[in-house]
Amino acid sequence: MIVARDKEWRKKEPSLDDVVKKYQDMPASWILKVDIQRRGLWYSPNAVAKINPAIHAVHQDGKDLFRNNVDFVPEGLIWNDGSYLIANFDFDQKNPARDPYVIDYIDGKYVIVDEGKIVGDFQGYWEKPDFYNKKASNGQPLSTYVQARPQRIEVSVNKYCHFWDCPSEGCKYCPLTPSYKASGATEEQDDIKYMREAFAEAFKQRGRFTQVLLTGGSILSGKELFDDELESYIRVLKMIGEFFSGKRFPSQLISSAFNERQLEKLYNETGLTMYTTDIEVFNREKFKWICPGKANKLGYDEWKRRLIASVDIFGKGNVTSGAVLGTELATPNGFDSEDEAFENVVEEAESIISHGIALAANIWRPTPKSIFQNQISPTLDYYVRVYREFDKLQRKYITNPYNDDFRRCGAHVGLDLMRTY
Ligand code: SF4
Repeated sequence: MIVARDKEWRKKEPSLDDVVKKYQDMPASWILKVDIQRRGLWYSPNAVAKINPAIHAVHQDGKDLFRNNVDFVPEGLIWNDGSYLIANFDFDQKNPARDPYVIDYIDGKYVIVDEGKIVGDFQGYWEKPDFYNKKASNGQPLSTYVQARPQRIEVSVNKYCHFWDCPSEGCKYCPLTPSYKASGATEEQDDIKYMREAFAEAFKQRGRFTQVLLTGGSILSGKELFDDELESYIRVLKMIGEFFSGKRFPSQLISSAFNERQLEKLYNETGLTMYTTDIEVFNREKFKWICPGKANKLGYDEWKRRLIASVDIFGKGNVTSGAVLGTELATPNGFDSEDEAFENVVEEAESIISHGIALAANIWRPTPKSIFQNQISPTLDYYVRVYREFDKLQRKYITNPYNDDFRRCGAHVGLDLMRTY
């Protein structure tokens, strides 16, 4: 079992119980989800024994990354209300800022334990899709090229982010490119031939998937900034479109912020239905410090302007934006207090949501290999307070923020609050 680097951390912030009592209008099981994503997860030997790679979707990245030093962990958990919780997320397991929650299996039930006390239970681990058992024509597992969440197929089109071409211009919370470099990989993109084979096999499983997601690191090259990135996505989207008879198919792209010409090309030449570009940090100054590459190459104001402009092309309700919530409180240049951060973040978020753009904000965990790896994320109270406000704003401005929600993703607990729509 691992323990927090600061043994006194519990005395310095509100507990799960405190927060559940304070926000009685928010589901207690949802608050627990938020805290699990904030603090991390560990598995008891009983829980490890229940992980069966023949049945469950498991995450295998390299032994030193894994909890309990086992070879794999479940990709996700199914909550009792049918929603999901991503469980493959990385956190500092050698010296975590806080003790992680422990998953155990007791008396035929999956439970979540903290300080020896059961604080929640859940249904089980995600089951893997059929295509995970198949191989591409080159002998590699198809899951090398295309991955799946319970109801979504996803592909990472570019595994390297070119904001890292300039030393220290990558986003400070992001481990994508440092991990890519550490892995010794040399191919930024997979061969589309094998992606096609994976999609062909995945689509044979009727009723499993409701959406396709494409994402990847930024590509800055081209006649205009991001032109080559755009072409990479168009190529893959056209390939996927061949599996559908109609023009549009349920799909989401998370990419750099394209300009209007690029967005129109994307919309007209592919069957994409939903566009996402991540604002990352809800404050111009903090964005400049935390995402220097994005700030230098495009700037906060232009990123935001393009995000809002994309609603005219993809339609209200078909555009979202993501953030790494909590980085605005990183030291030394973040906000001085959670109250100050809350005021600023909510005001800025409203200026985005009011255009009909839903927010898919991730919980920041200072991730190993990222520049922020030794930082401490905010309190549970802060996350619940901010998500609660985002939910109110989304209910006010967006009648049906259907996409990118708990039905498909499982990473953005804030969007779980849409369950009551
Ligand atoms: S979060 Fe920033 S550094 Fe990471 S892939 Fe996206 S743009 Fe690149």
